[in-house]
Amino acid sequence: MVWQIDLSGKCIVVTGGNRGIGLSISHQCAQAGAHVAILYRQSEDAPEIAKGIAEKYDVRCVAYKCDVTDQRAVQELFKTIYHDVGPVGGVVCNAGVNYKKPALELTKEDFTKTFEPNVWGVFVAAQAAALLWQEHQYQNGRIVFVSSVSGTVANKGEQQAFYNPSKSALTMLAKNLAMEWAEMGILVNNVSPGYVDTDMNQGLRDDPELKKSVASNTFLNRISEPDEQAGPVVFLLSDQASYITGTEMIVDGGLHSW
Ligand code: NDP
Repeated sequence: MVWQIDLSGKCIVVTGGNRGIGLSISHQCAQAGAHVAILYRQSEDAPEIAKGIAEKYDVRCVAYKCDVTDQRAVQELFKTIYHDVGPVGGVVCNAGVNYKKPALELTKEDFTKTFEPNVWGVFVAAQAAALLWQEHQYQNGRIVFVSSVSGTVANKGEQQAFYNPSKSALTMLAKNLAMEWAEMGILVNNVSPGYVDTDMNQGLRDDPELKKSVASNTFLNRISEPDEQAGPVVFLLSDQASYITGTEMIVDGGLHSW
């Protein structure tokens, strides 16, 4: 018998599912048979990307321009998605930003710019899914946050005094939602990547020596491809992960273990 992840019949919502790690998650969800709803903020090519995924895997895949920090808009959108794309079975709260700045220069505006999408926006999407599942009495909801090892490690040389704590917050957010929503049949977990080759790490693409040095801090001696983060996320969305909740899967090639 082939051990296979099957998400067919479900719609998975992926915030920031049009680029980087989120795009890989959208692909792998569709490959597992799920319909996919992508939420994006501004990238104009997102609808074309969604169309390509739909055609490649023969599923429904639609991109919706929606800022995850807008609670009312996200709640309304989840209802639209349920109706237009399919019964939502999972949400991947992946959208996030990383503004680097020396701590001495940080302002309240910088705080909001980081914490609003990275913590509040994650909560908003999770809550919108939970409300929908409550309304439809759906008992098998899955929520996966894309956090970061930066939630537990202060990376030497980085200026991430707000980014890192925004990711630490997701650890306790997942635990609390997992505890409160367990009786609704909802599982909530974090996947915490190490360094991944995406636009967020343009600095590493521009500086091969820096990339090499960062890679040398991992046991595997390389940074991660986005697809290597998507696999664990899809696993946590699947029936195979039915007894995992309130926890964190670290996917960092050994960086965290030093
Ligand atoms: P990218 O910068 O490549 O993509 C970010 C995505 O988030 C885009 O799709 C963007 O949409 C979307 N987004 C950002 N803000 C909002 C918002 N307010 N509303 C809706 N969508 C939004 O990021 P990565 O793929 O690198 O990162 C994805 C997640 O993984 C983030 O949470 C990040 O913190 C985390 N992570 C990344 C690591 C890395 O090394 N790359 C390491 C550890 C964690 P648009 O395209 O429209 O702007």
